[in-house]
Amino acid sequence: MDKKFSILRRRIQKSQKFVMDKIISDHKADICVLCGSEKEITREHVIPQWAFEGDPKKYLVNTKNNQPTNYIKSTIPACRECNSDLLGSFEDYLKRLFQEKDGAEFNCYEVDSIIWWLQYIGFKLQVMDLRSRFLRYKGSDYIPYISDIPVAMFWGPMDTTPHMVFNTIRRTRRSLFKKNKGSKRNSLLVFNTSNPDYHFFHKVDEFIFIEVPQVNKAFFLFYNKEFDLHDNAFDECMEIIKRNYGA
Ligand SMILES: [Zn+2]
Repeated sequence: MDKKFSILRRRIQKSQKFVMDKIISDHKADICVLCGSEKEITREHVIPQWAFEGDPKKYLVNTKNNQPTNYIKSTIPACRECNSDLLGSFEDYLKRLFQEKDGAEFNCYEVDSIIWWLQYIGFKLQVMDLRSRFLRYKGSDYIPYISDIPVAMFWGPMDTTPHMVFNTIRRTRRSLFKKNKGSKRNSLLVFNTSNPDYHFFHKVDEFIFIEVPQVNKAFFLFYNKEFDLHDNAFDECMEIIKRNYGA
């Protein structure tokens, strides 16, 4: 697993400029967003199927336009080798880890792997927003002028520029080069949960929460914020969970 994981990270790093240039000039380019290859393109799920039990009825609502998206249909392009072989073995490793260990038992290597995984999901969500057209805010009028604009252009306040969107994606993708997450380790929180339902929410470039009932765990990561003390991260995380959970 470790060897394949490092091959994957090296591929992401080597193709950074090519992939970013390509998806900026053509948001819907059918290239592998991990290595840039155009061969054997498969659909890589934004939220891994094993995490939402492959239930086609479960969907995520994009907070920017309120349009529901089925998890099962939320995919980005990735080549067969990156998707099935390299990512596949990394996710098999994570699944085993989640089943075998309690949240408090993870060592640094394992914590770094989980952070990488959540950063990768964040990257996929960003790419998906860039590839999806805004359409209209569900429940309100269709405005032709904004309907064709990628959802990503609505991430921030009124003055979100394409430049800022591309820089955010570029920076997030860059975070996937590195295995060692050092100063970010306090930004990850792992919960043991007995909740039978799957839960997910996120805020682009700020945080992500994902609950995986089959392994009785939930994960929260602050994407950019760093903390001297894990307790401080915990307090702030609980505030956000209270605001978002079940909403
Ligand atoms: Zn690839």
